[in-house]
Amino acid sequence: MLAHATAFIDLLFPRLCQACSCHLLRHEQLICQRCQYRLPRTAFHDMAGNPVERLFYGRYQPAAVTSFLYFTKAGIVQQALHNLKYNGAKEVGLYLGTRFGEELKASERFATIDAVVPVPLHWKKQRLRGYNQSDLIAQGIAQGLGTSLRRDLLRRGLDTTTQTKKGRLERWENVAEAFLPSDQRLPGRKLLLVDDVLTTGATLEACARALEKVCGQPVYMATLACAVR
Ligand SMILES: [Zn+2]
Repeated sequence: MLAHATAFIDLLFPRLCQACSCHLLRHEQLICQRCQYRLPRTAFHDMAGNPVERLFYGRYQPAAVTSFLYFTKAGIVQQALHNLKYNGAKEVGLYLGTRFGEELKASERFATIDAVVPVPLHWKKQRLRGYNQSDLIAQGIAQGLGTSLRRDLLRRGLDTTTQTKKGRLERWENVAEAFLPSDQRLPGRKLLLVDDVLTTGATLEACARALEKVCGQPVYMATLACAVR
């Protein structure tokens, strides 16, 4: 009887893979086993001078930068991130963030992080979406690393919602003043700044410059996906 009821619920509300949209098997959660194996991991964590670190050359020197997955158009990572960002699939952020955090805990450069700090979303966007996707990823990473999440160290200043159509320089000027550090001082703490996707790095750079005032040293950066090869 119970099996029938479960089958009936599955028919009404099919459980789909958040990455490839196939029907999930009973033992699968969120992301099907096939996609789990196919996740395009970067293996950047302990690689000094990796492609995401090179993005910041000549602009800003972070302590270390890494990304969990490669972002490709029409790929499974794009689909999972789209569901996280626009379809309310919050568990995807927590789940992938936790897997990422577990990898970081096993790495040399990121294992001793003291606190995880999400890139704050502008309050207007957060009100519209109801949540901050970077915060969910950061929650997962903090859990995987076994360390704390600190939302109070960085906040958003000016509105930067119209930045997508601007050039790189203009975009940088637009975000440069958009993040403000808290008055707290945590000298020597290793802070890990977290965002969803790394593209130009302008947002992360602006956040890192503000966050550096809190810890007094270069910050670490991690994004769930990166758009570099
Ligand atoms: Zn799948």
